[in-house]
Amino acid sequence: MPLTHPNSILPLPVWLTAGDEPLIIAGPCSVESREQLMATARGIKAIGRVKVFRAGIWKPRSRPGQFEGKGAEALPWLKQVKHETGMLMAVEVARPDHALQCLEHGVDIIWLGARTTVNPFMVQEIANAIKGSGIPVMIKNPVSPDLHLWIGALERISLAGSNKLIAIHRGFKTHEQTLYRNIPLWDIPLALKKEIPSLPVICDPSHIAGKRQWVGEVAAKAMWLGMDGLMIEVHPDPDNALTDPLQQLTPAGFAGILDNLPANNQIRSEELLREVRMRIDENDDKLLELLSKRMGLSAEIGLLKKQFGEQVVQPSRQKQIFEDRLKKGTGLGLDHEFVKTFLELLHEASVVIQKKNFEHE
Ligand code: PEP
Ligand code: MN
Repeated sequence: MPLTHPNSILPLPVWLTAGDEPLIIAGPCSVESREQLMATARGIKAIGRVKVFRAGIWKPRSRPGQFEGKGAEALPWLKQVKHETGMLMAVEVARPDHALQCLEHGVDIIWLGARTTVNPFMVQEIANAIKGSGIPVMIKNPVSPDLHLWIGALERISLAGSNKLIAIHRGFKTHEQTLYRNIPLWDIPLALKKEIPSLPVICDPSHIAGKRQWVGEVAAKAMWLGMDGLMIEVHPDPDNALTDPLQQLTPAGFAGILDNLPANNQIRSEELLREVRMRIDENDDKLLELLSKRMGLSAEIGLLKKQFGEQVVQPSRQKQIFEDRLKKGTGLGLDHEFVKTFLELLHEASVVIQKKNFEHE
């Protein structure tokens, strides 16, 4: 059945959430021990807004020799968490045998990670393994910004008979140094929503942000953009977590983020502004990243000037830069005074950085 067929995807309130409340999923990046698992679950349960508890037990790591998760040993622990807290259990599966073990142990929801969604053969094998079970499946976007690969994975699972589907936006890998660990490229989840309007799409701000200080702003933005929920990583002692220590939040930090999410009525009244705001934020982030690169180049040329015995300030080069940038800036429709002031600031900051090399003699 094509994903756009009205019966192919069940709306979230039919099977998971109440009314139009956002779906909140939280839990540790990985299960490290029964104690860490229970402490996380109790902390999250006490907050009271979490429907689904996430836990990684098979961790696809980039390099060998790193912690790869507790594996099937942790499945009975998850059952205990469910029994004690009433939260539904969600586990990442990366191979068909993982999916089968989840089915055997009564895991409520499985999800495919970004490194699995990129591989159509593996997605198909997992789809074959769960065929006919009806287990709910969440599918993260592939690591690369490829909408069709994401849709293809959703289709393969749908064709295996699953109509409880959720897409998770977790950002995209880039080789560039950016503020966040993964660039959000919000247009892609929004395009997914446009293409398959009945598909619930939630956001994983933890893997987009990569650092806990940014998780809140990414989560809030996802809500502004009308996403159906959030998946957030929580750990009782994030700094000592065996995986993703920089981005995991304590239960208290997580509660603070939930408290600051925009309310539904606020979101509707802001609807008209939200797309423009999103672009402004994205462009400001890019500007800051570019400025940081630009200053790196100033430092680099400062070292070369010192090595070759050249002056830091070279009036003819400075004049040429000002004339060239002013022409280009005004040609792009920018105000002459604005470009001039900006260039002066840039020049000043660049000189300060270059002179530092000379001071350190
Ligand atoms: C995870 O959720 O811990 C994970 C490994 O995420 P991703 O697949 O998005 O990298
Ligand atoms: Mn993680």
